[in-house]
Amino acid sequence: MLKIYNTLSRQKEEFKPINEGKVTMYSCGPTVYSYAHIGNLRTYIFMDTFRRVLKYDGYKLKGVMNITDVGHLLSDGDEGEDKMAKAAREQKKSPWEIAEFYTNYFFEDFKKLNIGKPEVIAKATDHIQEMIKDVQTLIDKGYAYEIDDGIYFDISKFPDYGKLSRLSLDEQQAGARVEVNSQKRHPADFAVWKKAEPEHIMQWESPWGMGYPGWHIECSSMSRKYLGSRFDIHTGGVDAIPVHHENEIAQNEALEGGKTVNYWVHSEFMLVNNGKMSKSLGNVYRISQLEEMGYAPLDYRYFCLNAHYRKKLNFTFEGMDGAKTSYARLLSTLYQHKAGTNATDKDVLAEYKKQFDEAVNDDLNVPLALGVLWTMVKEPKSKDIYELALQFDKVLGLSLDKAQPQAQSEEPISDDIRKLADERYAAKKAKDFATADALRAKLADLGYTVLDTKEGYTLRKDK
Ligand SMILES: [Zn+2]
Repeated sequence: MLKIYNTLSRQKEEFKPINEGKVTMYSCGPTVYSYAHIGNLRTYIFMDTFRRVLKYDGYKLKGVMNITDVGHLLSDGDEGEDKMAKAAREQKKSPWEIAEFYTNYFFEDFKKLNIGKPEVIAKATDHIQEMIKDVQTLIDKGYAYEIDDGIYFDISKFPDYGKLSRLSLDEQQAGARVEVNSQKRHPADFAVWKKAEPEHIMQWESPWGMGYPGWHIECSSMSRKYLGSRFDIHTGGVDAIPVHHENEIAQNEALEGGKTVNYWVHSEFMLVNNGKMSKSLGNVYRISQLEEMGYAPLDYRYFCLNAHYRKKLNFTFEGMDGAKTSYARLLSTLYQHKAGTNATDKDVLAEYKKQFDEAVNDDLNVPLALGVLWTMVKEPKSKDIYELALQFDKVLGLSLDKAQPQAQSEEPISDDIRKLADERYAAKKAKDFATADALRAKLADLGYTVLDTKEGYTLRKDK
């Protein structure tokens, strides 16, 4: 029995699908105006893990993910340039070219990370008519009103506004820069349709003149189109809770006259060196950049799987080195099992499977499940263990069938270099930092980087 933490109730709940044996799931996708970074991709590794657990449990899954290629403005206050238009202007391309390029790049990262594509990929610009229809319904039902620059949702008509984030309106607005639009009835009213200035590149005909949809209505229209007026699961990152998902709930419930999503499930932020990821700090990494540094994309997947999706994950290169080493060791150990001649007792195997299944069904506790796998591979070498690990891999997505004797990228490090590194480590432990620093510098001259870890240190040949 799967238990999952529902942001709406702030509790782990038993998962009960609307239709037996089937699951409907909507996942907020990317706004394709630039590359996805590793923090964005963590959210999709979480989405993928969730999908894998549901399939592992035997559910037939219908997942929908949107591609936002219009309407996501620079500010949460419905002001500022469209992110797509800005990128197009800066890169001297059309928004359509920008969208195509970054969408393709995004799915390349999916492939590298073994993230399965949801069954339906819905592009916002392919669903403008559905959005116009929903906006009209909101107006007809009295939930939305027209002003000079667009159609706005009237949150005073939806008393439940804020039920997901459990924040008061003031708290939700805190930190968000909301420009004053004196025609809005309430500062938190949000645009469901924006009227376009003539120079705006992406615009469509509507009952309210030329314009384009608001970002939030896109998800409401596309999720309901493919999944119906009520569906099981909605996923996203925690950053979407206070504005984007509150707005989706308000729109959906206004349109449908009741609850539309049963389980809201969110993954936590990623930090870099315990701080924020930001362009100005130069610590926003893409998968391709990690590859250039000598990491495989699946090293990163392994790194992510070691943290529960509801915990903040702190990205460090020490952590990545640890993940890379552990993952290579896992593969080489499984390779030995593949050729193993022992037989493993059926009850022993059943017990490992039971523990693994319990872990992944307990709010997707993949770190615990990995622990079960690690205990299991310490058994005497047997093909039975290898076969069971491949079953677990349906959830883990670590390509464990590619088990190999030794990680391909690992070059042997000479004994002389090892000796220097050991001396440096000994000096550091003895708090002789001058010697330790001198040895570190010497190693750097020889082309090696030393990284200290919890257990000791790792040594990496520079590229
Ligand atoms: Zn969304």
